[in-house]
Amino acid sequence: MAFKIELIGLDKDELQKALTDIGEKPFRAKQLWQWLYYFGATDFDMMTNLSKVLRQKLKDNFTITRPKIVTEQLSSDKTRKWLLEFADGERVEMVYIPEVDRGAVCISTQVGCAMGCKFCHTGSQKLTRNLTAAEIVSQFMVARDTYGEWPSPTQETRYLSNIVVMGMGEPLHNKDNVIKALNILTDGDGIAISRRRVTLSTSGIAPQIVDTLQATGVRLAISLHAPNDALRSSIMPINKRYPLDEVLKACQNYQAGDGSRYVTFEYLLLDEVNDSADCAHQLVNLMKKYGIRASFNLIPFNPWPGCGFKPSPNHKVRAFAKILNDAGFAAPIRVARGQDILAACGQLKSKKQSS
Ligand code: SAH
Ligand code: SF4
Repeated sequence: MAFKIELIGLDKDELQKALTDIGEKPFRAKQLWQWLYYFGATDFDMMTNLSKVLRQKLKDNFTITRPKIVTEQLSSDKTRKWLLEFADGERVEMVYIPEVDRGAVCISTQVGCAMGCKFCHTGSQKLTRNLTAAEIVSQFMVARDTYGEWPSPTQETRYLSNIVVMGMGEPLHNKDNVIKALNILTDGDGIAISRRRVTLSTSGIAPQIVDTLQATGVRLAISLHAPNDALRSSIMPINKRYPLDEVLKACQNYQAGDGSRYVTFEYLLLDEVNDSADCAHQLVNLMKKYGIRASFNLIPFNPWPGCGFKPSPNHKVRAFAKILNDAGFAAPIRVARGQDILAACGQLKSKKQSS
């Protein structure tokens, strides 16, 4: 039998081409798209409006693959974590964080990460490989399978309503696959997650920011974690390549011409490293200097063995938040979720440390 083409991860044009290549009419692509992404079909036999002969032909030429679920853990607060394995045995984690009437799925974009941020467990593992568009999209599809959210529910009744690209890996280091995957996930004829409900988080690969956001229409979050270059470079090596000035200018460009665009700055509070009142004031001045419409997300640090950092104590976190609030910035302190299963984004593990 000839090599079979995986359908998940093809965009609409590619799907159409795959079908015309086997002698089918282009309109079949629309039907198939709906079966794959609206109904979540994992088997060609579910596609009941296609003839048996056509279903057999599809089976002979194509596959529909989900990553294998290696483990699945449910926290006492209903946060859920999956360890997923791809065809070559590489693994990533995905987390679902429920809120009252909605919830965010945190997806990964790479196995490991080349950025080497000092506080990050993924960063301590080096980059193994990029995920394909299919692997990025099919992670979310596993979450939908688990919660039975097929066919795509209306926005109001969705449990899995948001996506945060904050799992393992640096999305802008795998830009093409991430753009393709996000455009599939947000396509209105299929999975249909609203672009405004998707947030991409980056450590700041400045030249890729505007393009990627333009090409996907999703929201931007920047992992800032320090208010000046010296400190940022000491914990995030990528800052030596793209210093704060370049990152913040990219944020300005992203906001230019669209007054509704906000940037969320993630700020991890590390005891005695970046949590002083002076750091908070520097942060305020930095935002004012660049005139960025910003909100902050203050993240409690999740320690891991050998990391060498400690979480900032609560009173310092609150004092830090107050300085930002007094300067007019929203700065919610992220509530730690799924502690009993170590499920927060930002402490996801891969192969060697898992299971
Ligand atoms: N590579 C991207 C997205 C994945 S990391 C980025 O860096 O933005 C998602 C978030 O988790 C980032 O803000 C990251 O800085 C944060 N993070 C990393 N390690 C963490 C830890 N040990 N505790 C809490 N957050 C962490
Ligand atoms: Fe990579 Fe993000 Fe971790 Fe930095 S924080 S090492 S960019 S995953």
